Amino acid sequence: MLESERLRLSQEIEDLAAKYNYQRQSLLPILQAIKTKHHHISDFALQEVARLLSIHPVEVYGVVSFYSFLSTSQQGNFVIRLCRTISCELAGKDVIARQLQNELGIKFGETTADGRFSLFWANCLGMCDQGPALLINDYVFTKVTADQVFDILEACRRSFGVFALQGRNTLNSEAAVQSNVKTGVSVESGVLSNNDLNQGLKASIQGTPENVIQIIKESGLKGRGGAGFPTHIKWELAAKSKSEQKYVVCNADEGEPGTFKDRMLISDYPDLVLEGMTIAGYALGAKSGIVYLRGEYSYLLKSLQKAVDARRAQHLLGADILGKKGFTFDVDIRLGSGAYVCGEETALIESLEGQRGEPRNRPPFPVNTGYNSNPTIVNNVETFVMAAHILAKGPGWLKQQGTKLSTGTKLFSVSGNCAHPGIYEFPYGVTISELLRKVGGEDAKAVQVGGASGRCVPRSQFEHIIAFEDIPTGGSVIVLGPDTSMLNVAKNFLEFFNEESCGQCTPCRIGNRRLLEGVEMLEEGKCSIKYLRELQNLGKSMQLASKCGLGQSSPNAFLSITEYFKDEILGKVHETVQLEKGGTRA
Ligand code: SF4
Repeated sequence: MLESERLRLSQEIEDLAAKYNYQRQSLLPILQAIKTKHHHISDFALQEVARLLSIHPVEVYGVVSFYSFLSTSQQGNFVIRLCRTISCELAGKDVIARQLQNELGIKFGETTADGRFSLFWANCLGMCDQGPALLINDYVFTKVTADQVFDILEACRRSFGVFALQGRNTLNSEAAVQSNVKTGVSVESGVLSNNDLNQGLKASIQGTPENVIQIIKESGLKGRGGAGFPTHIKWELAAKSKSEQKYVVCNADEGEPGTFKDRMLISDYPDLVLEGMTIAGYALGAKSGIVYLRGEYSYLLKSLQKAVDARRAQHLLGADILGKKGFTFDVDIRLGSGAYVCGEETALIESLEGQRGEPRNRPPFPVNTGYNSNPTIVNNVETFVMAAHILAKGPGWLKQQGTKLSTGTKLFSVSGNCAHPGIYEFPYGVTISELLRKVGGEDAKAVQVGGASGRCVPRSQFEHIIAFEDIPTGGSVIVLGPDTSMLNVAKNFLEFFNEESCGQCTPCRIGNRRLLEGVEMLEEGKCSIKYLRELQNLGKSMQLASKCGLGQSSPNAFLSITEYFKDEILGKVHETVQLEKGGTRA
């Protein structure tokens, strides 16, 4: 690098660091800005960032190497990420992968010799109802066909910039983010109603913060991210924590394969999300809110920021909100950088602090010691939308639908082998067969509920209900048609977890590797029944011994598939069984 270039880059990084007050927790946005402009984080840039933030370069390297959207190697002007999750696979991603490699003359993980294109796999772009999906820099392309691959690449080549992408009306991101939204309940009465916007916030500030928490408690609201933890308990504990500074964090790191309903809420209903966060701020006595938006949704950043700015202008954010003296709350948006594990709340907080997104030991819990060691609640996007409605309509509204233990409705992201993929709203308690009738997936042989970390439900269990007391889900429903290879489904999910495990604890780091190897052995007919049982026991141990939800849930699909689809699996081990009978272990 020439001396003049070094000086220019050094000044640029100095300006960035100054913009963020040289704060350690700004490491990620600083690195993201450098990567976007220079297509990598050079050794010199890394050292400069470390110097300016007063941290060791090894720490900076540790962060860069953790996130898939950051890199120390030079990448192309156009970074192409093809989604490889099962929904895109069922939609034909292999053909697109082949065509991309043919056109570019490179393999996945490589950059073209002219430095224009880099090609990578992506672990779910949140476009599962519109696959196969591609992300090129900040532009998303959906329902891509092999013929279109050439056109898309030509558009990039012609401009050598992003302008050609912006001009593509039929394939642009604006159109792509519009999922088909269908409801199993009246839109007027459901979570997607916008009619009572800001009524919940107005009602909240007329009462005390304790009243707000009481109303949430009476409604029976449970977190919509999947775990189903009662919302009022988090809010109550954080409210009781004695601290000047508290945080309300919106978890918009929607990385679970097959889930895309939060993308729609952020793009079409940002006001409801921000209103719910503001209500939580009032209930907790928190002045600061943060939306952690996944890096794959960076194209939503502008519109979300616009919504934040508009609310500030309307005194719905900022100081003395709606004229309520002393009620101050504002929202900042932070981008993730391509790490599924950051959907886990403590990993998300680590990421916000500019660290590797590695889950923390608990206790302490975030409600006491969260972001920057302050009390913090982390809730899912849909949970905040629900909270806004509940405060507007009263706790009885949620109880009108759903079951006793799972009140209200739920948004479902439906993809896979069905006639009408999209986003649906159903009351909790809907049976899988009812849902399948609505989405045109009656001939399914199985349904993966809850994404890669959820469970595979066979046809014999289609009368089970989706609810916390039976089959819980954060919203992902992947329909698996009669011709689907269940081993392939298990393999796809295990590849995903091998990529996304943070590697901190052995059961998850090594266990997922062994399970994937086992599936590959099954595919090749080289896995004995005895070894399959050992793998099943390993999966059960992982559920108990892994440190966080990722490792605890990663064997779920493998276990349910090997349990419910024994006949299909056993077909694969048939030859080995014969060998076993003869006393030889494969
Ligand atoms: Fe990391 Fe997996 Fe352990 Fe979670 S379970 S801490 S993701 S290695």
